[in-house]
Amino acid sequence: MTHDTIVLGAGMVGVSCALHLQARDQAVALVDRRATGLETSYGNAGIIQREAIEPYALPRNLGFLLSGATNRRVDVRYQPADAARMLGPLWSYYRNSAPGPLQKISREYETLIALSLETHQQLMNDAGANDLIGGSGYVMLFRTERELHAFHQVADARAQHGVQHIKLSSADVAREEPSLIGSFAGAVRWTDPVAIRSPGELVQRYAQLFEERGGAVHLGDAMTLRRTDAGGWQVDTASGETLTARQIVIALGPWTTQLTSRFGYTAPVIPKRGYHMHYAPVPGKALNSTVIDAEYGYVIAPMQKGLRLTTGAELANVDAPRNPAQIEAAEQIARQSFPLGERVDAEPWMGTRPCMPDMKPVFGAVPGVAGMWCAFGHGHQGFTLGPVTGELLAAMMTGVVPRVDVRPFSPARFA
Ligand SMILES: Cc1cc2nc3c(=O)[nH]c(=O)nc-3n(C[C@H](O)[C@H](O)[C@H](O)COP(=O)(O)OP(=O)(O)OC[C@H]3O[C@@H](n4cnc5c(N)ncnc54)[C@H](O)[C@@H]3O)c2cc1C
Repeated sequence: MTHDTIVLGAGMVGVSCALHLQARDQAVALVDRRATGLETSYGNAGIIQREAIEPYALPRNLGFLLSGATNRRVDVRYQPADAARMLGPLWSYYRNSAPGPLQKISREYETLIALSLETHQQLMNDAGANDLIGGSGYVMLFRTERELHAFHQVADARAQHGVQHIKLSSADVAREEPSLIGSFAGAVRWTDPVAIRSPGELVQRYAQLFEERGGAVHLGDAMTLRRTDAGGWQVDTASGETLTARQIVIALGPWTTQLTSRFGYTAPVIPKRGYHMHYAPVPGKALNSTVIDAEYGYVIAPMQKGLRLTTGAELANVDAPRNPAQIEAAEQIARQSFPLGERVDAEPWMGTRPCMPDMKPVFGAVPGVAGMWCAFGHGHQGFTLGPVTGELLAAMMTGVVPRVDVRPFSPARFA
């Protein structure tokens, strides 16, 4: 064997798994068909979401469901034929979003979110990546008093779990963000999260740390994965090498089940695509924090490349053609409230949040396939949860008891 473990997929999740396996004395190779951190882990909103102790549930109110049916909402869109094929998982997602199931799921989810900052901070210190931190906290902006006060209850409930916030009046918002054009009823500033100014670069710094510590990063197609006669695994690299290992970790984000299904394991991933675009700053008009326009579900994040607008979700197959309608609709509204200059990118970027119907990531041993492990399905918070997933998976794979109960995240729940 050339290695103990090969990790397939070099997004935030795969790179974190590779680092933590390496820290447990494994010889690890990391393989991706592109350079590290160029897919969803590149283009997200860059927030390490320590406040997200409740995963992103499907709104169950009739108004949302009826307005969604017209496919003209800014926060959620769908490609009809693709969405029709997802009806089973979406129905399950809807049922899991009811208060009872959601409460149980959130208790489990919180055990991961609670470790997100410390696991990132350790890696950022080791990788010398603290310069990528753009600030602490982010702001949820509300346009109506009704929505604002409803959200105050959410914030107060999370405070019971140690998640900190500050309530901002309309005047506070204007004082904190004097460049806002539109007026808002108020906001909630989450103070625990950390905003990263270049999420893809953070993944690359983690990958560099992995290489500095002796790990190997290869270009290669994960679909070349096959069994060896000795019961191990083989993968071909783009440079013509064949890597072999006892164990394989599949961390291909939304593409994971395309590979695992070849070996008999599948799980119902709901692909929620998202788009981004960067805008040049308007001279003299800065945005101090990352902000979310709660009503329309888009984020404006100050990034190294400019102000990054990221959209809500588009339900569409991961490899289906892009549709710029959602980002165009979000941009039109955002321009009325935020100081967005000229577009910086030639085309909108697109990535896919791999969401599970029970809103929890999937990591652990793949049932029925000896030596195969997986880590995927991190949905809206994979950038946040990569390092904690890496730590827990590496513990499981090396016979160490993980520091939280990992059973709720087992791949076996879909087998
Ligand atoms: C618009 C948007 C905003 C978001 N904002 C946030 C946020 O603020 N905070 C947060 O925590 N999360 C956020 N997310 C979610 C987060 O980005 C994802 O959950 C996370 O990036 C998933 O990481 P991953 O490593 O699982 O997948 P990816 O980053 O997609 O990595 C998968 C890797 O697999 C590789 N791959 C695929 N197929 C093959 C193959 N055949 N062979 C070899 N390699 C292959 C790809 O090249 C890629 O590098 C956001 C997502 C979107 C879309």
